[in-house]
Amino acid sequence: MTATLTAASPPPRPGLIDLDQALAQLLAFAQPVVEEESLATFDADGRVLAQDVVSALQVPPQDNSSMDGYAVRCADVAAPGTLLRVTQRIPAGHQGVALQKGEAARIFTGAPMPVGADAVVMQEDTVLEAGQDPQRAKEVRIQAVPQQGQWIRRSGEDVACGTTVLQLGERLHPASLGLAASIGLSHLRVKRKPRVALFSTGDELVMPGDVAPEDMPPGAIYNSNRFFLRALLHRLGCEVSDLGIVPDRRDATIAALKSAADHHDLILTSGGVSVGEEDHVKPAVQSLGALHLWQIGMKPGKPFAYGWVEREAGDRAHFIGLPGNPVSSFVTFLLLVRPFVLQLQGVQHTQPVRMRMPANFDLPKADRRREFLRVRRNAQGGLDLFANQSSGVLTSAVWGDGLLDNPAGTTIQKGDLVSYLSFADLLL
Ligand code: AMP
Ligand code: MG
Repeated sequence: MTATLTAASPPPRPGLIDLDQALAQLLAFAQPVVEEESLATFDADGRVLAQDVVSALQVPPQDNSSMDGYAVRCADVAAPGTLLRVTQRIPAGHQGVALQKGEAARIFTGAPMPVGADAVVMQEDTVLEAGQDPQRAKEVRIQAVPQQGQWIRRSGEDVACGTTVLQLGERLHPASLGLAASIGLSHLRVKRKPRVALFSTGDELVMPGDVAPEDMPPGAIYNSNRFFLRALLHRLGCEVSDLGIVPDRRDATIAALKSAADHHDLILTSGGVSVGEEDHVKPAVQSLGALHLWQIGMKPGKPFAYGWVEREAGDRAHFIGLPGNPVSSFVTFLLLVRPFVLQLQGVQHTQPVRMRMPANFDLPKADRRREFLRVRRNAQGGLDLFANQSSGVLTSAVWGDGLLDNPAGTTIQKGDLVSYLSFADLLL
């Protein structure tokens, strides 16, 4: 059974922007940075290529053995049990000489094939025998008739010369670094890191380490958003200026935004974008630039905002205001900020992988907003729901291993197939 819109479901909330449309609009503004830099391949993990990477050589460079054994000429081995003279030994990194009729070369994995040989017989299919004459070379008995080309890795079978192995706009991961190294590149051209100014708003916020848990004043809470937002930005290859906590005052918020705008591509804030009188971020952005998007039809994450701050120079810094509630901030980052900062580096957005999985719970009450429930895969291949889905309960994001994307107005019955997005993909 598939989760369905129920007859009794409430109508969608008016005035909220559809999440997919919001993302499309954000991406329409995310002009990739133009500057690039040359970086040691060692240091390029997670960075985005600024040009195609084309191979100037073949990988592997020569035909070589993929086994420890004997290089032979197939024509010499018509039947099992044939004896061949072992006339040379070729370890990896060494070059042999041409193989003559009736000869075998002792060869090791990765060693270049000698001219004339057209197969490798693995060690396990041979018996080494002392020659008739102890002064002469040893002989090897080939127990199995070889197939032409067996156990040979062909030159260029990984990378042919002239092939584009990595592409402009591709995000590098550890295997890509290895591939770049395999074609001899010690450095890579990558996009410069987007510069992101990060600040938290909220007079209630206290930094861990500044005040001990037993000394926390009434009403105070620790600033948790700052920690995961900074970590998420770093994972995505951003250069982060952490501007700390800005007090809930209009003037302080304006001053922080203004000074951040000059040297950053993006100003990312958390808190203060809701509807209360203590929410100063929205009007502050409006006074320095414009607010283009505000309030998304999603739960958690409704008070998300996008806009820009005008710079003295006449251009703009992007502004994204995340909700203060930690889970709202976390989820909107994954679904909206992540594709935005990746595109700032030139990565084209692709939809995260969705899996259809059966829910292992009932959700009898439909919400008017599209909901992202914190869930976890269980051993039976179903999804368990974290009991407390409040947007303040960050435990749900640690307990869970992904989000269930539930359409607005949809109830769920145990066994319904639902749409699952894994944190493993969204945190990459
Ligand atoms: P706000 O969006 O500023 O109204 O904040 C909504 C809720 O999130 C309030 O309960 C705040 O105390 C909480 N909150 C805001 N910022 C943070 C933060 N950086 N870390 C933890 N909780 C926060
Ligand atoms: Mg606040």
